[in-house]
Amino acid sequence: MIEVFDENLHSGVNLALEVGEIYYREKTDLQDLMIFENPRFGRVMSLDGAVQTTEKDEFIYHEMFVHVPVLAHGNVKRILIIGGGDGGAARQAMKYKNVDVTLVDIDRTVIDLSIKYMPSVSGGAFEDPRMNLVVADGCKFVKETDEKWDVIVVDSTDPHGPGEVLFTQEFYTDCKSCLSDGGIIVTQNGVPFVQSDELRNSYDRFGTIFEDVSFYMATIPSYVGGPLAFGWATDNPRLRKLDLGVLADRYLAAEIKTDYYTPEIHQASFVLPLYVQKVLTEEK
Ligand code: SAM
Repeated sequence: MIEVFDENLHSGVNLALEVGEIYYREKTDLQDLMIFENPRFGRVMSLDGAVQTTEKDEFIYHEMFVHVPVLAHGNVKRILIIGGGDGGAARQAMKYKNVDVTLVDIDRTVIDLSIKYMPSVSGGAFEDPRMNLVVADGCKFVKETDEKWDVIVVDSTDPHGPGEVLFTQEFYTDCKSCLSDGGIIVTQNGVPFVQSDELRNSYDRFGTIFEDVSFYMATIPSYVGGPLAFGWATDNPRLRKLDLGVLADRYLAAEIKTDYYTPEIHQASFVLPLYVQKVLTEEK
């Protein structure tokens, strides 16, 4: 009898994944964590019944999450990752030689088990001497720190449970005070086709804090419902409208290897389909 992992993140929609070997299934003191084998996606991590990352398609999500803001900024020295306990965003960030990374995740168990059971996702990032690992609530961390970063990546779960605070006006405001001049914050902002409220809420909240607010998109096969939106906010509107040649030069100079990201995809990812534009502009 084949066991099935049944994700019901969005009412009326289920994602069923065949479950092979189960490597871990426990409630940490914060979240219900499961890591299991699937014939199509490889090892899969879920938190509170929602797919977080899979070995086979994480590269799409983590490359777009990190290389878009870093190459748009052009001179990143310090990256702050809030959440991201699977280490995928950190692995992409470490591809830049002179970057240091601070990662703040609330759940140490996620980090430890990602390293143990899904090492390809973090790829040694947690052991890199440039990593400053903090186990804490990201909301509290940004409120209390006086440090600054050039890019902040909010690689959170969805807005329920411990992740809920990472979608608030208060958190975004505190993130702004942790950004260096011309810095960029990017967020995991859900799948607009089934999570339009999440998109509009972030858009409205960011809009009261930053000069330039938008989204860019990529389709992650294991995130059901269509393309995912990454939130984008900065006080430097030029960074979203860079020439392709500038992005291509920076990509070349960075000497990083990618399997999804290209400068052309970077530029195109900010072109939002009309149904997404409508979510952002319709009368509330
Ligand atoms: N790619 C996934 C997605 O799109 O939902 C996110 C992956 S990552 C595993 C999500 C991380 O957010 C988890 O490791 C979880 O522990 C962390 N997290 C949740 N709430 C948090 C909080 N308040 N502060 C810091 N980390 C938090």
